[in-house]
Amino acid sequence: MRTHGHSCGADGRGKPTPEYAAWCSMRARCLRSTNKDFKYYGGRGINICKRWNEFLNFLTDMGPCPAGYTLERKKNNKGYSKSNCKWATREEQSINRRTTRKICVGKQMILLKEAEKITGISRKTINDRINRGWTEQTATQPVKGQNPQCKRGHFYAAAGFYLTKHGHRVCRICAVDNATRYKARLKLGV
Ligand SMILES: [Zn+2]
Repeated sequence: MRTHGHSCGADGRGKPTPEYAAWCSMRARCLRSTNKDFKYYGGRGINICKRWNEFLNFLTDMGPCPAGYTLERKKNNKGYSKSNCKWATREEQSINRRTTRKICVGKQMILLKEAEKITGISRKTINDRINRGWTEQTATQPVKGQNPQCKRGHFYAAAGFYLTKHGHRVCRICAVDNATRYKARLKLGV
């Protein structure tokens, strides 16, 4: 494959250029079913325009990647092509994670932090889901079988939680209580 030195880097030390690295990871996400992110990309129909099968076409269309920028799609449900892609800063990528973001819950537009309070789904989860292509309506729904509250009624999203090695959630309030009880028992030797 012709990469004009991009795969090995212009410095000759064998490091791929940022453009080549971006092109490779884009292809891995969309085309390689063993990639950990495939289900959010290729697995849900996010594809790459034919023209970008050639790295040099990708490079021509996108131009050089400014330092600290990453490849981003403008519309999350559309694929990788010249018209739908840009180099973006991490700052830009995190804009939609801000608390001032509003989303549609029921028939109302409300702030993400309000949605978090009402639904018990953390705003990080809601955001991640939307970025993965969930609709705003489904992004605020609890996953089937996943209670937003622990047995004692603490909302996981508000309290925070730990995952056990079996993947079960333990809310932090309960975790602290458990630890306190455990220490007390140790002291008494029971
Ligand atoms: Zn709890």
